[in-house]
Amino acid sequence: MSEEAYLDVSIIRCPNCRKLYIDSSWYVIDMESDIQCGECGEVFNTRKNLLKRILLKFTFIKNGVNVEIVREITD
Ligand SMILES: [Zn+2]
Repeated sequence: MSEEAYLDVSIIRCPNCRKLYIDSSWYVIDMESDIQCGECGEVFNTRKNLLKRILLKFTFIKNGVNVEIVREITD
């Protein structure tokens, strides 16, 4: 028998250099946190630069973990 766990993640993009980032959705949507881009140093708001929100499912199998996209979350 396998066990499952879920993670709600948000994909964001640096408005300056276009680098992609992924973070937990509570951090992006609920906290509306600012982050600093590791590539160009720009500080930007994650929520304002949100591209997609995705629900991931982690299935713990005999010798590892399988990760799949359950669905895209739209507000
Ligand atoms: Zn950047």
